[in-house]
Amino acid sequence: MLYLSKSKYCALWQCPKLAWLQKYKPEEMTVDSGALSRMETGNEVGDLAMGLFGDYVEVTAYNGDKLDLTKMIENTKAEMAKGTPILCEASFDYNGLYCAVDILKQENGGWAVYEVKSSTHEDKAVYIADVAYQKYVLEHCGVSVTGTYLVTLNGDYVFDGTPDIHRLFKITDVAQMVKAEEKNIEPNLSVAERLLASKEEPDIDLSDRCNQPYPCGFWQYCTRHLPKPCVFDLYRMPFAKKLEFYKKGKITFPDLLHDPGITNETQLRQMQYAVTDCGTYVDKEKIRSFLKTLSYPLYFLDFETMQPAIPRFIGTTPYMQIPFQYSLHYIEREGGKLKHTEFLAESGTDPRRELAERLCADIPADSCVTAYNKKFECGRLRELAAAFPDLAEHLLSIERNIRDLLDPFQKGYYYNRAMGGSFSIKSVLPAIFPDDPTLDYHNLEGVHHGGEAMELFPKIKDLPPEEQKKARHDLLKYCELDTFAMVKVWQELVRVSKENEEEENG
Ligand code: SF4
Repeated sequence: MLYLSKSKYCALWQCPKLAWLQKYKPEEMTVDSGALSRMETGNEVGDLAMGLFGDYVEVTAYNGDKLDLTKMIENTKAEMAKGTPILCEASFDYNGLYCAVDILKQENGGWAVYEVKSSTHEDKAVYIADVAYQKYVLEHCGVSVTGTYLVTLNGDYVFDGTPDIHRLFKITDVAQMVKAEEKNIEPNLSVAERLLASKEEPDIDLSDRCNQPYPCGFWQYCTRHLPKPCVFDLYRMPFAKKLEFYKKGKITFPDLLHDPGITNETQLRQMQYAVTDCGTYVDKEKIRSFLKTLSYPLYFLDFETMQPAIPRFIGTTPYMQIPFQYSLHYIEREGGKLKHTEFLAESGTDPRRELAERLCADIPADSCVTAYNKKFECGRLRELAAAFPDLAEHLLSIERNIRDLLDPFQKGYYYNRAMGGSFSIKSVLPAIFPDDPTLDYHNLEGVHHGGEAMELFPKIKDLPPEEQKKARHDLLKYCELDTFAMVKVWQELVRVSKENEEEENG
């Protein structure tokens, strides 16, 4: 008999090989920290949505620390027989096809299925497949399904100080789309039955599904036979175009280097330098022009942010980036000493006001500030200015004067093979300073990238004091390395810009 949960059905819908790998080779899956945090967010949003229609009965049951599905199915039957109007996690099993409905509500003489998603988008095809599967299972269990809805977060909701879940969530009637999807269910189930019964790995090639809605966790496994680097490592080429080359058998850099379909200079340089190690490419003139746009006092700024799905600070929206920390290196005059200051808010509080005040105190108006990928810092500064009009003038003067240290790399003024076509600071830094352990993010404790910082900060408030101290220390060290890295990168640009200067000047 075929045993399938709705998440397995959705995996199968995305890619039959994905469902097979989950069953037979789960150890090959790469679980990124983003996936775990998405799961935590999903649970938090799901719990909140349960109260959307008033009082409800949740049928969840545990056996030890595992869900007791048999008990949940029994509880569901009992509550439906009693006429309970709203059930959460109502569970059904039809010949091994299992599902738990987020919210099941009596409606129009039958039962409506409400599927809760922690996304602000209601238009993902996999969501419709998910709801269609639930309707199929329920109807085969004899339940009359009179409505199918998606409950998603409303991206326009602005928290005004009083939580309002009716404005926070958006309900979309997806009956028409579910109807159109229903015809695919039985064919998908037949595929599942055949495929999951066999221990032989299905021969399914890479497709656009590998990257939707998120990069598939089996990507490393499914591409293990490809040479490194290959077409999928090309800088900023859309996934669909990479796939097109792959399907045409143009996979390696030598295959692609002279393809007339690739004209992007950065991609061409990436391939040239990978094929033949030509050292470091430097366009001194352009680097000099860039450096002339900088002036003293010179600041190096980096924010860390969190993105709560459920806004809890006045004026914020779901998934808004909230800055909670910054690191700032600065040099007051040419040849001056490198100095450092920093800010890290208290976890559990709204960090924005104190951060904005400290930033205005730390950076004089109209100073030259550098960021790495300035779009991010500029966006946060504009949001802070909108939130605190009394600080707006100062914050916007910082924003206006930000120069982007990413520019010389992204625009191709400086390139070496070790960058591998990536211009993030975490690729550029080791490519320029491969042997300096003090610049190696791997040597940091606890926090190694922005995603880890984002996850850790909101949790600090719930940690015991000693762990709080360590977590704050780790966050500070991480963010400090980000701006120190920027200083080192700037110093390298200054160094190469001065090489042979005397000879050139005759
Ligand atoms: S990487 Fe692509 S082919 Fe492999 S399991 Fe995932 S979606 Fe399927």
